[in-house]
Order: sequence, then C-alpha cells, then structure tokens
Amino acid sequence: MTIRTAVYGSAIIEYSLAFSARRSLAISVLPDGAVAVTAPVDADPHEVDERVKRRARWILRQQRRFAEFRPRTPARRFIGGETHRYLGRQYRLRIEPAGADHVALRSGRLVVETRFPEDRDWTRTLVRRWMRERAHRVLRERFQLVSGPVAAALGIKAPPLRICPMQRRWGSHTPSGRVLLNDALIAAPRDCIDYVVAHELCHVVEPNHSPGFLRLLRRFVPDWERRKDLLERSTA
Ligand SMILES: [Zn+2]
Repeated sequence: MTIRTAVYGSAIIEYSLAFSARRSLAISVLPDGAVAVTAPVDADPHEVDERVKRRARWILRQQRRFAEFRPRTPARRFIGGETHRYLGRQYRLRIEPAGADHVALRSGRLVVETRFPEDRDWTRTLVRRWMRERAHRVLRERFQLVSGPVAAALGIKAPPLRICPMQRRWGSHTPSGRVLLNDALIAAPRDCIDYVVAHELCHVVEPNHSPGFLRLLRRFVPDWERRKDLLERSTA
C-alpha cells in the first residue's frame, strides 16, 4: 500500500492506494476522513490520481460530513491563559482590548490586541491568521535553508514549495514534483521542520521508504529519529 496525493483546486487529497485482483476502481472515505482506493493490479497510479481528482468533490463532501460527527481535538477555546504552541514552545494567550487588531509574541506570551475582546470567534480568526502568516514565512525560510545543500548534494534542482493545510501528513512530495508542507508545522520546533523538509527532498530521488531512502535521510539528518519523535510529541 502506498500513500499518494491528488491536488484538486486548493484541496490536497491524500489517499492510500492498494491493488487487488478486481476489475474496477473503488474509492471510499472512512469515518476518520482517510481516503482508501483499491485498484486493479495493472492500473497506472497516475491514472488513479486522475480518477481520484474527478471524484474530489464527492470525497471532500464525505470528509466534511464525517468531520461534523467527530469531536474536535484539542478543543481550543481562545480565551486568556490558554496555551498555544509555536515553533515548539508553549505560549499563553493574552487578550488585550485595543483600537486595532494586532497579534504578536511579547514577553513569552501570545498577545492578541483586539477590537472585540469578548468575541472568541474573532480571537480565533486573528490567531489563526497570524499562525498561517508565520507558517508561510518560517516554513519557506527553513525550506530555503535546508533545500540548498540537500539539492546540491543530490544533484537536483530544489522543487517548488507549496504550504497548505493537510489533514494527515506533515509533508508530501507530489507526483508532479512539488514539495507540500503542512502549515500546522508552525507548532513544531525548527529542528523538526528541517527534518520534514529533508525527508520530502529525499523522496525526489527515492520515492519509497526503502533502505536507500533511509540511508540518504540519515546522511542529511543523522538524528532524524529523534526529530521525528519530538515532532510527534510536540504537536500532539
Ligand atoms: Zn516519506
């Protein structure tokens, strides 16, 4: 079974692809939102991507339906004192009434200056927007820093980067040769972001998690296992 990615508009659909002795393609959406595809043994994976793309509207609708019945964890309430993670550190939220909206890190806190201090939805909007902006800036910086030397060593051109929300993975190297990074990585330490970048770059030359892939990854990130553990712990 392999995990593949199909891009549909601004949505990224990740799906598991398994082959079996059947005549037609089956696409199903599981209650946790995962997309499972079973294809005939001789199916061309790129053709399967296309088929998934053609069913994208239906898949996204199913995922939304299931999501409505799933408790949202962790439930953030966007009230003062609550902690939010940014680059591996916990910051307490501080809400300050102000004439204009502004979010910043100040003396170890995530300070939200807001015109509507009682409005938690507005606080959520401001915090999410800030996190997204930071994600785009920081992830791009880390990508540039890591991809330069790795691409040079691999003798490849650094692939184009796209930063977007992803439901089930931290990063992906798409069949079209792009690297995708999950914007939620902004919660993780820089070390961990660099590990994800190096991991996806290694996929440019080694598509699967083969021994060759792991050798390559270890060459660029000798302590990748520690970073992977840390990533899982610091974003749970
Ligand atoms: Zn991988």
